[in-house]
Amino acid sequence: VPEGHTVHGHARRLAALFGDRRLAVSSPQGRFGTGARLLDGRILRTTTAHGKHLFLGFDDERWLHVHLGLFGTWRFGDGPPPDPRGAVRVALASADAWAHLRGPTACDVLATDEVTAVRNRLGADPLRADADARGAGERLRRSRSSVAVLLMRQDLVAGVGNVYRAESLFRARIDPHLPGRALPESSWNALWSDLVTLMRDGLRRGRIVTTRPQHRTRRSGIARGEDAYYVYRRAGLACRICGTAVRAEPLGGRTLYHCPGCQVSSG
Ligand SMILES: [Zn+2]
Repeated sequence: VPEGHTVHGHARRLAALFGDRRLAVSSPQGRFGTGARLLDGRILRTTTAHGKHLFLGFDDERWLHVHLGLFGTWRFGDGPPPDPRGAVRVALASADAWAHLRGPTACDVLATDEVTAVRNRLGADPLRADADARGAGERLRRSRSSVAVLLMRQDLVAGVGNVYRAESLFRARIDPHLPGRALPESSWNALWSDLVTLMRDGLRRGRIVTTRPQHRTRRSGIARGEDAYYVYRRAGLACRICGTAVRAEPLGGRTLYHCPGCQVSSG
């Protein structure tokens, strides 16, 4: 599942390809035919992401809203578009660039007040300058739910998925089972600040790397795939810090990874 940095990356790419251009919008698959006709021939004015939601603002305050969900993908390119093989829900094309969207969970045309309504339901996005980190922290620290569950709630923290959840909690040495209400404000502040750092880094690299070089098997050069994480998908392997076997457990339909040696409640 794409996390927030991927969606912000798509927003940047689409802005670079199509910003202030008049676009041909179609739905080769047909399922978005009505929506495509509403946008076809308009100029793309605004491109933004909030959490895992992408919003493309066209003339006359019409917005294309996309949530990729589990299976959605974008493909982009310069020059003439390739044949839209497979189920292309939306095809965007300017004179010199193209983009194809396949398999999104949500793809619809919204008015500006509807975009505001969607965004009002989303929490603080570590990749947005207007994120209300303090408000998110106050709500999280009033809850009895575990920090691991709360971090995945998009109405609290938007854009964090399973990788950033596991890795940020590990880096902060927070027990993922700790109830939100037991998390000190200073721990929240540190966790938020690290999420901002990690997700900006992910956006820049185009991939998630959370390990510091001294904790990798190969300490110099680009972090290889098997060196990218501390705990995510490392169940049974030795913790890079303390050597304890990393644990995986089901939590809310997703697998939670953590180190029972490093991530211990102090209270
Ligand atoms: Zn450990």
